[in-house]
Amino acid sequence: MSTETQRVVLATSNPGKVREFQILLAPMGLEIISQSDLGVSSPEETGLTFIENALIKARHAARMTGLPAIADDSGLVVPALNGMPGLYSARYAGLNASDGENVIRLLNDMAMLSDHDRIGYYLCAMTLITQPTDPAPVIAQAGWPGRIGFEPKGTGGFGYDPIFIPEGSDRTAAEMDPDVKNAQSHRALATAALIQQLS
Ligand code: IMP
Repeated sequence: MSTETQRVVLATSNPGKVREFQILLAPMGLEIISQSDLGVSSPEETGLTFIENALIKARHAARMTGLPAIADDSGLVVPALNGMPGLYSARYAGLNASDGENVIRLLNDMAMLSDHDRIGYYLCAMTLITQPTDPAPVIAQAGWPGRIGFEPKGTGGFGYDPIFIPEGSDRTAAEMDPDVKNAQSHRALATAALIQQLS
């Protein structure tokens, strides 16, 4: 029996996600390699749901590398904005927008909203496929409820973390210790659900 660690490609080029996934996926005992380290770029996300986009990313990475793939598609959903930025979270302020530009756009769009309408949640859909045409992908999805603050606070995390205040907290996700975020985030819960299905 081979004792070689199974290599799996992580279908993301987002350094914030890679950092979190390296910790969250550690219990699986796999060698997780980011697609950027294998020279794979991101495909166009044409799905209408987080799950569809996660599958598009996983299939693309598996096809390009010949490795099993794990992908996530995630975003911040604000019901008062009809679900935006949602699927478009990474490109809310434009195709190559920075995290800071996306945060400013969201704060501007929410400028007139009262406390009551500032609820939102992160959502993370994850999939693991063994090969590009895997007919039975493992799929998990989880959310992290909270509200959107009025100004950015904190320097940790990535994306919308400086304005996302998780339910039960008075600090933003960017002010949290990374271990605390990784114990309760949408990405942590989806990863745990994925691992549970595999066991
Ligand atoms: P994706 O790479 O297409 O899945 O887009 C994910 C985007 O959603 C990121 O670029 C962030 O803008 C946002 N996002 C997802 N998860 C998080 C998180 O944990 N913190 C902050 N922003 C997040």
